[in-house]
Parts: sequence; structure tokens; C-alpha cells
Amino acid sequence: MIVLKFGGTSLGSAERMQQVVELVAAAPDRERVIVLSAMSGVTNALIEGAEKALARDLGAALERIDWIHRKHAQAIDALFAGSPVKDGLERELEARLDELKILYKGINYLGELTRRSLDAVSGVGELLSSRIVAALASARGHRAVWLDARQFLVTDADFGRANPLWDELTPATRSAILPLTGAGTTVITQGFIGSTTSGASTTLGRGGSDYSAAIIGVALDAREIQIWTDVDGMMTADPRIIAGARVLPEVSFQEASELAYFGAKVLHPSTIKPAVEKNIPVRILNTMRPDQPGTLIKDQVKATETIRAVAAKKGITVIFISSPRMLMSHGFLAGVFAVFDKYRTPIDLIATSEISVSLTIDQTENLQQLTGELADYGDVRVVSDAAIVSVVGRQFREQSGIAGRVFNALSDINIIMISGGASDINLSFVVGSEDADRAMKQLHTEFFR
Ligand code: ADP
Ligand code: ASP
Ligand code: MG
Repeated sequence: MIVLKFGGTSLGSAERMQQVVELVAAAPDRERVIVLSAMSGVTNALIEGAEKALARDLGAALERIDWIHRKHAQAIDALFAGSPVKDGLERELEARLDELKILYKGINYLGELTRRSLDAVSGVGELLSSRIVAALASARGHRAVWLDARQFLVTDADFGRANPLWDELTPATRSAILPLTGAGTTVITQGFIGSTTSGASTTLGRGGSDYSAAIIGVALDAREIQIWTDVDGMMTADPRIIAGARVLPEVSFQEASELAYFGAKVLHPSTIKPAVEKNIPVRILNTMRPDQPGTLIKDQVKATETIRAVAAKKGITVIFISSPRMLMSHGFLAGVFAVFDKYRTPIDLIATSEISVSLTIDQTENLQQLTGELADYGDVRVVSDAAIVSVVGRQFREQSGIAGRVFNALSDINIIMISGGASDINLSFVVGSEDADRAMKQLHTEFFR
């Protein structure tokens, strides 16, 4: 059993969809599950439409629907001209978009956009793209069926960043998929979406199709999970920012998690966690260059370089709390953490001194309440629009000179906060967002020149 996930750019046009079907047909395993994202740009358009509807600009929301309609209708036209399935696909496209229009009108009328309604809206792109690809696979003579992932991918009700409910989803996924794949039928389904036990649509968070592929792979005991995307693998840095970035042939689970968490968008940060538990390798491959070997992510790797990659995560908020009361007192940090816990806001990095603590967060929905309550503990200062820059490697504690090289490379960049030593494989620090790319470039030059 193998799970293949194709991202938005791999599905961006009719030609790309055709290529995806060819790649699926060429997969070595007879038992295959295909997990698909929305066509590129569609999830953004869906969310923008909801925001426009909320802002009482229904016209602009409906323009987003027109754009989504054109994008899919063009693909259907190009792929199915003269085919008897064309009409059915078009009717279905229209039916889904009519439903979307009703949702937008509801948001517009009520002036309310809950996380639950946003999930119902933002998952539509996956339902559309997967229908077209499934029809294409059948039209090309492959035994393939389309399944609605919401029938088996059961999650909690944390809309917008739902978590898998393994006890429910494992038997549901196995019984929905295994009889089909066992009989040689390829299952084509959606990434990103799931549903609660009571049937409400959920999403796993932006970029969550990778996570879906891993969840499905684990539920089915797959041999391998393949993430097909638009780059040759996991690289020493984001190739869109660093022209000289190089592919890493092998990456450990731990390194991949750390890189994904700290900004390597090529993989959703939660993807590796389920794969680790069942020790299922994850391979990253390029849809446009399938002959390239890609990156294999697995338990143990042979690489020996000290520094493996650099990454940056933008849109970070830094909170500084300083209080002379903290001096020699106990319970201060526990109190501060309790506030973050109360507002369910994860902390990424932390640095403390005798009288102050600095923290970074990337979820700011409850920032006002958070800072309000933190004021009980000391003076609170917030810096938004910061970025975490991370250097990921191995055995940092056993090597001397790494921090020296890092800070030397960044001698002309203002570093807002440093957090090192918590992990043996990561050194992270915070800079202003405007400095993040330059920091990455200078570090990449220092370590990979
Ligand atoms: P998909 O639509 O296939 O899910 P994404 O856009 O989510 O694709 O992820 C692929 C992108 O991740 C690449 O185009 C690249 O710009 C970015 N990226 C960031 N860091 C890295 C890295 N270390 N290695 C490879 N790609 C990276
Ligand atoms: N389509 C979703 C997104 O854009 C999920 C994904 O692409 O992984 O976030
Ligand atoms: Mg992605």
C-alpha cells in the first residue's frame, strides 16, 4: 500500500492533472490511495470570498466564485472535450458552487463568519479538484473511485486546525478504503478536510493535505507516503528565496519535523508525527521532474554534515514580559504559562532572564486577552511582524564554534531574541520580518557556500 499526495501546483492546470494521472498509473504498488489538494490558488480564493462576504462586499465574494468556476471549467473543457462525462462534471461543479454562493450569502446576511463556517467554505477546492482527477483516471482506463474524505477522516471540532481522532478514523478509513484497494481499485480522495463525529466539515489547517496523507498512510499501514510537489525535495533552504539551495537526499524524522515546524513549507508541520509512530518513510518528489530521486525522510540517516538546512517562519509575534517581582520569586513562569494555556495559544520559542521572559507565538486570535492578563505579571511589550530564523543540524552540543559562525554571519542584522540549546539539532533566533530573507541568505552562504 502506498499513499501519494499531490499539492496545488501539481494540479494547477489540465496538463498537470494529466501528468498526475500518469504518475499514479506508474506507481509500483498495486494498492494506492491518492490524496489531492485544491488547484493552486483556489483555497486562498475561497477564504478571500468569505472575508469579502463578511465585509458586506458580496459582489467581490461572487467574483471569487466566478474565478473558481472559470479555472475548473477550463480544466474540464481541456480534458473532457467530446466526452460523455463532461456534462456531469460541469453540473457538479455548478452545484457545489451554488452551495458556496448560499454560504457566502449567509455570511454576508448575518455579518458573521465562524471558524466552523470557514471550514465548510475552505474545503470546497479539494472536493472539486479530486472529482476532476478521478474522472480523468477513469476516462484513461484506470480502475479508480472517488471517495469523500469526510466519510472516514474523523477529527475533533477544533475548526481550522482539527486533530485526528484515531480511534474513530482508523477503522472507518480501513473499512472505506481497503476493500477497494484490495480489489485493485485506486482510491482518489481529498487532503485537508475531515469531519467531526456529528458530521460537520473540518480542515486540518493551511497546507494540511500533507498531514491528511500521513494520517491515511498510518491508518492503512502504508509502506510509504509520497508527497509530490513543485520542488526536487526538501532542500537546504527555500529555493524561492535562496537560488543556491540544494536537495537533501535523506533527512531524519526529527530534522524534517524541526524544519517543517520552523518554516519549510514543503511539509505541513504535523505530517511527520504519525509517520514516526509507525516508522513509515515519507518521500518528497517533484511532479514536474519525476525522474529526480527526491528526499527520503526516515528514522535514521547516514548524513554527517553538522548543518543541514536553514528555514524562516514569518508572521511571528514576540511578547516581552518584564517584572522586578520576578526576581527570586517562584511560580512566576507557571502563572505566565497558565495564561497561554487558558487561551490555547502555543508558544514557539522562549528565553528568560532574572526579571524578564520573552516568548514567540504565531496564533494571535486571542492576543488582546492574553496581553491583558499577562499585565498582571509585569510590563508587557509586543513586537509583531517578526520572523524566526532557524539553523537545523546535528549534535550542536558536541561541536564548538557553530554559534560563533551563525552570529558572525548575521553581524549586520538586528537580532531581537535568541533561543538555543533547548534542542541538540536546532538554533533559532528572532529578527524583524524584513530581515528574515537576508538572514537566511547570509547563513546559507556561510554554511553551504
Ligand atoms: P504544495 O502545493 O505541493 O503543497 P507548497 O507550496 O505547500 O506545495 O510547498 C512547496 C514549497 O515549499 C516550495 O515551492 C518551496 O518554495 C517551499 N519551501 C520552503 N522551504 C523549503 C525547503 N527547505 N525545501 C524545499 N522547499 C521549501
Ligand atoms: N488546499 C489547502 C491549502 O491551500 C491544503 C493544502 O494545499 O495542503 O492550505
Ligand atoms: Mg503544501
